[in-house]
Amino acid sequence: PFDVLVVGGGPAGASAAIYAARKGIRTGIVAERFGGQVMDTMGIENFIGTKYTEGPKLAASLEEHVKDYEIDVMNLQRAKGLEKKDLIEVELESGAVLKSKSVIISTGARWRNIGVPGEAEFKNKGVAYCPHCDGPLFEGKHVAVIGGGNSGIEAAIDLAGIVKHVTVLEFLPELKADSVLQERLYSLPNVTVLKNVQTKEITGTDKVNGITYVDRETNEEHHVELEGVFVQIGLVPNTDWLGDKVERTKFGEIIVDRHGATNLPGVFAAGDCTDSAYKQIIISMGSGATASLGAFDYLIRN
Ligand code: FAD
Repeated sequence: PFDVLVVGGGPAGASAAIYAARKGIRTGIVAERFGGQVMDTMGIENFIGTKYTEGPKLAASLEEHVKDYEIDVMNLQRAKGLEKKDLIEVELESGAVLKSKSVIISTGARWRNIGVPGEAEFKNKGVAYCPHCDGPLFEGKHVAVIGGGNSGIEAAIDLAGIVKHVTVLEFLPELKADSVLQERLYSLPNVTVLKNVQTKEITGTDKVNGITYVDRETNEEHHVELEGVFVQIGLVPNTDWLGDKVERTKFGEIIVDRHGATNLPGVFAAGDCTDSAYKQIIISMGSGATASLGAFDYLIRN
């Protein structure tokens, strides 16, 4: 069996695996797609110490760093269940069962897509999901934020400080964000809020040039010219495969303590699949290191 088995091969998992292997213990990492969300990212400018890199390049260097250690890398394998017996058992979709004394779950998350024409086509060409990451790319431009919940309104306030104009589109007749955020939003001069509207299409040629929406009251269709669209309708953790084996929030995020420990002894979690306050590469890597040191601590005490 493994001493530490990491499930998930994004920044959190890579970091956890390296920290474990550096303790000289038997370490494995199983990932559906090594690199995780980083593989879908273009420019990265907030990985501190590296002024600029690109997703696939960072993913390749994560993999290279992991392979520098004696880590059993099982790529293109999806975990479908976890059970604690004498050891912790992780069942893969292939039918194989991996056994380990401790497990670090780092299966990440995915942005919920709005699913309109143009969204997939213009991803990274004007369609964005992370204001902390891509906001500065739209300096001086007009952007839309789809979604009037807390994350959408936080994004709109954040972007309004960088871009020329922000148009917020909310499907419901009212914004769902906290009232303090709404007050702040409405105090800003360069924000337009459209409520009760349905986004129909993100338009463009080689990159985004506008958005088409329908006013749900009048059924009239409108088109706004702009250069960017931030989709903010939720980040979904990849944790369904755990069922009720590990305690999760109502959003499905795994609840961890400050050692990265879950409610199940020996099972730790890190990165975007957890209830961490913010979801970023550098934060995931830090929490991967924390969970790994937490797992090591657990192993020497049990
Ligand atoms: P992920 O990167 O999501 O990795 C999860 C891993 O788990 C993957 O290997 C996946 O295949 C695997 N997995 C999932 N389910 C299973 C399963 N059942 N069995 C086995 N393996 C599984 N952050 C920044 O800091 N800067 C940026 O510029 C930036 N830009 C971004 C741009 C885009 C388009 C996106 C989508 C995200 C961006 N982010 C950025 C956010 C950043 O990518 C994430 O915070 C980070 O990747 C989270 O790392 P993670 O290891 O927790 O999860």
